[in-house]
Amino acid sequence: MFFLLPLELFVVTAVVGATSFYAHVLLDQEYHVENSRLERFAWFRRKQQLHFVHHLHADRNFAVIDFFWDRLIGTYQSSEADVADLDNGTPNSHPVEKTCAPAST
Ligand SMILES: [Zn+2]
Repeated sequence: MFFLLPLELFVVTAVVGATSFYAHVLLDQEYHVENSRLERFAWFRRKQQLHFVHHLHADRNFAVIDFFWDRLIGTYQSSEADVADLDNGTPNSHPVEKTCAPAST
């Protein structure tokens, strides 16, 4: 398909795709590092908790950077500590922060 497009469009698409991929990998790594330098930012801590919900419930919060698509397709799950267990509807006995803590360095 890219053989039919101008070279400039291919280059821009490749650069944007590579940048997006790097940003996703970087943020996912920072989510799992203890004492990340990004933890000073509230937006990072909020996204980190939403990401940990994904590790507890693999069918929720697929996003790494922006959870817009999860909200749109109905896979968004709040990171509240009293999240109901998605499997049986009973209250979760262990808060997200304690069950999916970042790995130590
Ligand atoms: Zn992760």
